[in-house]
Amino acid sequence: MAPSYKEVVEGARKAYAEGKTRPIAFRRQQLQQYKKMLTDHKDEFLKALVSDLNKPQLEAVIFEVDFALKDVDFLLENLDRLVKTEEVQSVVPGDKSLLVREPYGVVLVMGAWNYPLQLSLIPAAGAIAAGNSVIIKPSEVSPATANAIAKYLPQYLDKDCFRVVLGGVPETTELLKERFDYVFYTGSTTVGRIVREAANKYLTPTTLELGGKCPCYVDGTADLDIAVRRILWGKMFNLGQTCIAPDYILCPRGIQDAFVNKAKEVLKEWYGEDMKKSPYLCRIVAERHVDRLVSYLKDGKVVIGGRYDKASKWVEPTVLVDVKENSGVMKDEVFGPILPILNVNTPDEAITFINKGEKPLAMYVFSKNKADVDKFLERVSTGGVTVNDTLHHSANPNLPFGGVGYSGMGAYHGDQTFYTFVHIKPVLVREYDATQEKILSARYPPYTAEKLKI
Ligand code: NAD
Repeated sequence: MAPSYKEVVEGARKAYAEGKTRPIAFRRQQLQQYKKMLTDHKDEFLKALVSDLNKPQLEAVIFEVDFALKDVDFLLENLDRLVKTEEVQSVVPGDKSLLVREPYGVVLVMGAWNYPLQLSLIPAAGAIAAGNSVIIKPSEVSPATANAIAKYLPQYLDKDCFRVVLGGVPETTELLKERFDYVFYTGSTTVGRIVREAANKYLTPTTLELGGKCPCYVDGTADLDIAVRRILWGKMFNLGQTCIAPDYILCPRGIQDAFVNKAKEVLKEWYGEDMKKSPYLCRIVAERHVDRLVSYLKDGKVVIGGRYDKASKWVEPTVLVDVKENSGVMKDEVFGPILPILNVNTPDEAITFINKGEKPLAMYVFSKNKADVDKFLERVSTGGVTVNDTLHHSANPNLPFGGVGYSGMGAYHGDQTFYTFVHIKPVLVREYDATQEKILSARYPPYTAEKLKI
């Protein structure tokens, strides 16, 4: 019989309490094993990603397996620097003031289905590097990848310290009743709130990597030939099921036609006349998401695409114009290959429009006008920004990745993947030095008026 969640968490806590996860040599060896697992079973992971999402191999390699491998490499290369206790300046001469990187204890990592490998494995690697025990709960919506993680991880990593649990909503609801020392969640804003409420019971700190509508502004100065390619790439990658995919376009009416014409040309060039036959496009993860996406087709005029096939979980890359502002496609995060275009006359109008909604996870501004770009950077609060391209701010380890407001809290990637999972513990060490004690004794009673003058 599989152990209960309580037993799983207790087991991970025991291993942590025994100090098993703390030695740097152990962390390093486990991260090396992690790499070995990803390399030895790369083909099985790629097959699982085809089964879950029909991920084209290039996307699966670059943005799942190799993406995770790169982060593990980064952690390995930087581990000695990251774990090092830092000495900072003291106030009283003779003291030692230290910043200690202390692991939290037992970390729960909950992944989402759209990048089902890296969204579970990268945070878990950070938690291991930081010296925690880790419980990974991959998404049940991408079962092949979840099963592959559950199968291979225990073959490579220490079974007491690192565990994988599987399950859907009822199981996760039970799991969240347990006490963790840190929860790292990736998924929708609605479920993020549930996770935070559960964590609140024990005041457990959380990172929430959530979603939202990522706006994309294009003005008349943008090089449309390049801009359209960069926007469509960011949108059609993973068939639109990317948390930072450009969700909708804001542009002046005057450039809309040119944008649509160019988009038709580029989509045909990349995916052919019959896009369904293209080997370069994923499938939608589940039939219910096909239904949701199809319901958006009535929210505007379809100028590109619009076809779908529920049985094969297919929705064609689609562009909508004359979109109603209060329609479903503009209320929900699209999370699929449908790109609505709305018209604005000025950057200020675009900023006002964006700021009427919740703070986005990402924003894209395509413009050669620096003053206008700066306006967006100054006036829109968003998780991250790429100017004149899409998605790329998430691929630089020197740029922490995360949301703000409804799009999330906390961040990871690069150093932050480590720092997320440690408490920075300030430590002051004082000796029994007679000269120092003489100075310090001014704090002891009696509190004479003379002492106040010091
Ligand atoms: P999902 O259905 O895979 O859910 C994510 C996790 O939440 C899973 O582990 C799942 O088991 C759990 N879960 C689902 N319902 C639950 C419930 N009622 N109670 C407890 N746990 C529950 O993924 P999703 O939510 O459909 O993910 C899509 C969303 O995730 C989008 O909004 C997207 O923008 C966002 N996302 C964000 C990031 C990011 O890095 N910020 C990355 C990927 C996806």
